[in-house]
Amino acid sequence: DLESARAWIAEQQAIRAREAEQRALPAQTTDGHRVEVSANINLPDQAALALSQGAEGVGLMRTEFLFLERGSTPSEDEQYETYKAMAEALAGRPLIVRALDIGGDKQVAHLQLPREENPFLGVRGARLLLRRSDLMEPQLRALYRAAKDGARLSIMFPMITSVTEVIALREACERIRAELAAPALPLGIMIEVPAAAIQADVFARHVDFFSIGTNDLTQYTLAIDRQNPELAAEADSLHPAVLRLIRQTVAGAERHGRWVGVCGGLAGDAFGAALLVGLGVSELSMTPRDIPAVKARLRASTLSELRELAERALTV
Ligand code: PEP
Ligand code: MG
Repeated sequence: DLESARAWIAEQQAIRAREAEQRALPAQTTDGHRVEVSANINLPDQAALALSQGAEGVGLMRTEFLFLERGSTPSEDEQYETYKAMAEALAGRPLIVRALDIGGDKQVAHLQLPREENPFLGVRGARLLLRRSDLMEPQLRALYRAAKDGARLSIMFPMITSVTEVIALREACERIRAELAAPALPLGIMIEVPAAAIQADVFARHVDFFSIGTNDLTQYTLAIDRQNPELAAEADSLHPAVLRLIRQTVAGAERHGRWVGVCGGLAGDAFGAALLVGLGVSELSMTPRDIPAVKARLRASTLSELRELAERALTV
């Protein structure tokens, strides 16, 4: 047994080494279909590592970590410095900054928010932003100030359920942009709730892009708490119901010429990434260490093979 385990380890190390050698190459299928591969990182000092792993940009900057990793709320100026530094570290590569996603599994003690019986179904993400202008406004001002100073970035809102939320958030962005005489920025939403996936064709009229959060989309579709260890094996992002919602999201986006990325955990799994590209996703954002294997997997197939794979997965 030890011998076969050692042989398996050696084989895996050889595969990882081969993938690592090619990590700077684009994720292009053998028939020339190119997929953008980005990193999920939270702080500017993580950008160098992400780029060295082959990231072509940042597809998810989780800004709640600026709040979670300290005992106080960062000021508008501090946030501005952070967003500007992140954009500088990326030197013009794409950067998608996610507006605060507080609530659910991301509780910030120093905000002293009301205790909820069911925080995953409570005031989280965009719902909190729309109720707490003292949190949303400084963040949007910091982002538009960074953009005015040359940062290339997009803003993305988490936990969207209804079009009215998007309209209100867009209005807030436009008001702040105008006050600062800042440039317009691409605005996107996360597709994390089945309601958003089902209505993707309607949302697509109002936003520039979608990024699917498969961690939450899986949790809300399958009614499985993403933190419940007992159900971890069943919280499967490859469940056909989740894949059908992803397909529906892509179809809705295509009707209005919008692009769809995935920044949940499924994007960083080589097999999951292959399926997602087969479903029509055009950007994948993941933990930096997952990038080499995902790129290698995509570089090994044709797009039609990936489409066939996706078709099969949808019908099991
Ligand atoms: C997701 O839900 O898939 C996602 C990327 O957001 P988070 O994991 O931060 O909730
Ligand atoms: Mg999420």
